[in-house]
Amino acid sequence: MADKPFATGQCVCGDVTFSINAEPARMAQCHCKSCQRSSGTGHMSLAFFAQDQVEISGSFSEFDDTAESGNINTRGFCGKCGSRLFGRNSGRPGVIAVAVGSVDDSSWFQPQAIVYDKDRPHWDLMDAELPKFDAMPPPPPAK
Ligand SMILES: [Zn+2]
Ligand SMILES: [Zn+2]
Repeated sequence: MADKPFATGQCVCGDVTFSINAEPARMAQCHCKSCQRSSGTGHMSLAFFAQDQVEISGSFSEFDDTAESGNINTRGFCGKCGSRLFGRNSGRPGVIAVAVGSVDDSSWFQPQAIVYDKDRPHWDLMDAELPKFDAMPPPPPAK
């Protein structure tokens, strides 16, 4: 890996670090109840990448829950400090979601959509210009 990665990040304690070697396929603000409960906030800012473009160092823990769609949602977090880091969904094989707050420099993040808007708490204000979905929209057509 001679070139500089697209982005790097880590958990709070630094046990888990990662580097991302490609631009995100999608970016979204997610208000689903799983994101709200697991983050303790009104939404999670997520960037989705091809899983093989994200190199993770250090060991992290994973926890499964069943999403509203019936898919299995797997949340990755640092087992030492609890930072929420990654997400995988059985409906999107080969894709990893990175919690954008764990990225060192996330100035590239530009959400394209607000998902699970029906669960958005009124106090969590979002960009009114963004398209809103009450669930996870289907993936964009393959390039
Ligand atoms: Zn940690
Ligand atoms: Zn969510």
